[in-house]
Amino acid sequence: MKRLRGVAASPGARRGPAAVVAAGSVSLPDAPVEDPVSEATALEKAMETVATGLEARAAARGGELSEILEAQAAMARDPELLAGAQRLIKERALPGGRAVMEAGEEYALALEASDSDYMAARAQDVRDVCRRIAAGLAGETSQLALEAPSVVVAKELMPADVADLDLHLVRAFATEGGSRTSHTAIVARSLGVPAVVGVDGLVSAIANGMLVGVDGDSGTVYLDPNPKTTEMLDRRSAERAAHIEELRTMAGDEPAATKDGTRVEIAANVASLPELQAALESGAEGVGLLRTELSFLDRARPPSEQEQSRLFADMAALLGDRRLVIRTFDIGADKPAPFLDTEEEEEEENPALGVRGIRLARRHPDILSAQLNAAVRTAGGRARVAVMAPMVSNLEDARWFAEQVEAAGGRSAGVEVGVMIEVPSVVFLMPELASLLDFVSIGTNDLTQYLHAADRMQGSLAGLQDPFSSALLRAVARICEGADAKAWVGVCGEAAADPGWALLAVGMGVRELSMDAGSILEVKAALRRITLEECRAAAEEAASAHRPEEARSIALSLLR
Ligand code: PEP
Ligand code: MG
Repeated sequence: MKRLRGVAASPGARRGPAAVVAAGSVSLPDAPVEDPVSEATALEKAMETVATGLEARAAARGGELSEILEAQAAMARDPELLAGAQRLIKERALPGGRAVMEAGEEYALALEASDSDYMAARAQDVRDVCRRIAAGLAGETSQLALEAPSVVVAKELMPADVADLDLHLVRAFATEGGSRTSHTAIVARSLGVPAVVGVDGLVSAIANGMLVGVDGDSGTVYLDPNPKTTEMLDRRSAERAAHIEELRTMAGDEPAATKDGTRVEIAANVASLPELQAALESGAEGVGLLRTELSFLDRARPPSEQEQSRLFADMAALLGDRRLVIRTFDIGADKPAPFLDTEEEEEEENPALGVRGIRLARRHPDILSAQLNAAVRTAGGRARVAVMAPMVSNLEDARWFAEQVEAAGGRSAGVEVGVMIEVPSVVFLMPELASLLDFVSIGTNDLTQYLHAADRMQGSLAGLQDPFSSALLRAVARICEGADAKAWVGVCGEAAADPGWALLAVGMGVRELSMDAGSILEVKAALRRITLEECRAAAEEAASAHRPEEARSIALSLLR
C-alpha cells in the first residue's frame, strides 16, 4: 500500500478501481494547415477510429445504451459530416479538429431547430462525436467512458470532462492539480462524492483498474489499500451514510429556519441536471447558482437560445415552485471557452483581472441576450426565475444588466434581477446597487481572492483564501447593512457550505445560502438548533476579530 497526500476537497471516504483520465478537454489547433489533402485523409481515418471504438463499446454493453452508441458510431461515419468538414479544410485551411467541430455544430444547430424533441436531443450526440474525433486528431485519447463504479483519477479535470462522465458511476475523484475552490472540487461536493485534489505524482503512480481509496476528509489517497485501510474506508463510508440519514430525519423535509422561526432559504449550486437531482434529494429549496457556462465550455459556437431554454425548462420542471437563479456566462480567467475566445481579442497579462464575466457580456450583447431570452421564456412557463450577472464592478455594469433584462421582457415575466458581489469595489456601492436590483449574491470565492489579491487556484496561497478572514466577514456585514432591506442578500460562494460560517452570515442579515448538495443537510440542521439573536451576537464578535482562527472558533462555539 502507498499513501499520497493532497488537499481534502469533498468529504467522505470511498474506494474502487481507478479510471485514469488520460487527457483534459480537447485542444483545437489554430494554425492553418499546409497540406489540406493529407489533413482531409487524417480526418477520415480519425472518424473511422471513433466509429469503430463506439461500436466496440456498443457490443460490450447491450440494451438502450448500446443503441445510442450504435447511433453515435453511425454519426461518426456520416458522409455529409465528412464532406462538410473536408470542405472547410480545403477552402479555409482549417485544421481537421476545428473543421469537424464547426461542421458538426452546423449539423447540431439544424437538429435543434427541428420541431421533434427527439431530433433536437440528438444535437448533443453529434457534438460529443465531433469532440471525440477532434480529440483523436489531437492525439488525445478520451478515456472518460466509465464501465463500472470507479474512482476517477486525472491530472486535471475540466468541467467539460466531468460533463462527459456517467456521474452515477463515480465513487470518488482524485486529481493532481486543483485546490478546494477548483471546479473538480466544486463538482465533487455538489454530487456528494469524496474528492482529494492537488496530489503530487498521482497520475504516474496509478494504473487503470488499480484499487484506490480516497479519504476526502484528511486529503489522503491510498494506492492498493491493505485490509486494515480497506476496513477503515468501508466503515467511514457506512458511518457517513448513517450520519446523512440522521440529518435527513432531523432537517430534510422541513423548510429551513432558525430555532425561533427566521426563514433562511437553503439553495443549491448546480451546473447540470444530475447535480440538481442530487441537491433536491438532499432537501434543496431552490437553485441559488446555476453556473451556465459549465455546460458549454467545449463549444466552438455559442449555444442557441433554444438549447439553453430547454436546459432551464428541464431544471424548472424539477424545481416546481422553487426559485432558479441563473447566472449568466462567467467566462474568462480559469474558465476559457472556445466560443468566446478572449485571447483572440486581446492578449491578457492577468486573465483573472481581465475581460471576464459581465465585461465579456458587454462586448458580446447578443450572447447575453440569448441567455436572457431563454430565461424569460422559462419564466413565461410559470417557473420562478431570477438572473444574475458575475464580475460586476460598478453601478454602470449593474444598470446596464438590469436594462438588458428589461429589454428581454424580464420584468413583465416576473424575472428577479441581481448581481454577484465578487469585486471589492461594489461592496462600497451597496445602497445604490440595492436600489437598482432585487437581490445580490455574494460570491465569496472570488470576493476573497480579490480582497486579498491572492489567486484562488494557487495552493500555496490557500491561507489567504480563508472565508473567516476579517476582511471578508466585515465585507459581508457591510453588504447586508448597505442592502438595507431594499434587496435581499444571498451567498453562493463555497463559504456558505461551512455551517459555522453560514450561521455568522445569517447573523449579519443573509437570508439565502446556496451551496453544494453535500452540505445542505448539515447547514439546515445547524440553523435549526440556534436563534437569530445568537447568530447576531456571534456575528458581531466574529467581525471584530483580528485573525481568522478567532472568528472560526466563535463560529464553532455556535455549533456546539
Ligand atoms: C464565487 O466566486 O464565489 C462564485 C460562486 O463563482 P465561481 O466559483 O463560479 O467563480
Ligand atoms: Mg466567481
